Amino acid sequence: MTAASRLRTLYDTLAAAYGPQHWWPSESPLETMVGACLTQGTAWTSVERSLANLRARDLLQFDALLALPEDELRELIRPSGFMQRKAATLRALLELVANEYGGSLERFAEAPAETARAQLLAITGIGPETADAILLYALGQPAMVVDEYLRRVVVRHGLAPERVRYAEVQQLALAAFAEETDPAALADHCNEFHALVVQVGKAHCGRTPNCAQCPLRGDLEYYQQEQNRQGRLSDLRND
Ligand code: SF4
Repeated sequence: MTAASRLRTLYDTLAAAYGPQHWWPSESPLETMVGACLTQGTAWTSVERSLANLRARDLLQFDALLALPEDELRELIRPSGFMQRKAATLRALLELVANEYGGSLERFAEAPAETARAQLLAITGIGPETADAILLYALGQPAMVVDEYLRRVVVRHGLAPERVRYAEVQQLALAAFAEETDPAALADHCNEFHALVVQVGKAHCGRTPNCAQCPLRGDLEYYQQEQNRQGRLSDLRND
């Protein structure tokens, strides 16, 4: 069984265990984009408080948010932490959409994914995970988001080495859906995949794994048995 097909089976197992995840939890693509910037290094509950501050002032609209002075933005997003850096990132992101796409997220969503990704990555404070989250959840592009939970799962299940890079995990995860030729259907899988990985990560695969009740323990046992079998074969060869 290849790593990609095992990962696909893990996805199917999680989907059967947890059901549809209905991500991203937001009311508009703009709110998703803002949330994706604010969630870096912060619990989602803190992001929700910042979003509530913006919503209370009717600022979750593109023109209103763009017109907001940066010092006021900083205060409103204070609950998410790193408010100076995050406010600057958000402003740069809004300016990108204003200058390149006339302030339209619909037009941004129509840009080629590679172009949009490069533009996002050029903004200070936006790394690959945030860029892919914006591409996928705000713009509807088939981007695979790699987070710490996914990295842990693939490493602990022997699907990738300890020091695996972002792009390598992303490639592996996309290979799990290689048969999918429809970009919209692939985007749906990417959406569910990331949401399900976050779910299993929060429930079981934290810094200390809690495998006993985890839906993915069957694959872990398979991997460990394979490891033991390989070890015995190697011992026999060395005898
Ligand atoms: S908790 Fe254990 S079985 Fe579950 S994903 Fe993590 S390593 Fe695998």
